[in-house]
Amino acid sequence: MKRQFIAGATCPECGQMDKIQRIIDGDRQWMECVSCGAKKDLDEKPAEAIDALAQPVSLQSPKK
Ligand SMILES: [Zn+2]
Repeated sequence: MKRQFIAGATCPECGQMDKIQRIIDGDRQWMECVSCGAKKDLDEKPAEAIDALAQPVSLQSPKK
């Protein structure tokens, strides 16, 4: 099993940033929030699902 954090991803459930891990286990993969435990299956559209969540940090406005 392989886990990797998705930089800049925001959890759709709890709204926390940088808490989303992509977990790859054999031919299955899913995303899991380490903050609230929300899981999102990635079997259907892996690439798009991750791209929709992960936004490049460099494109985000600095915090004010
Ligand atoms: Zn969460």
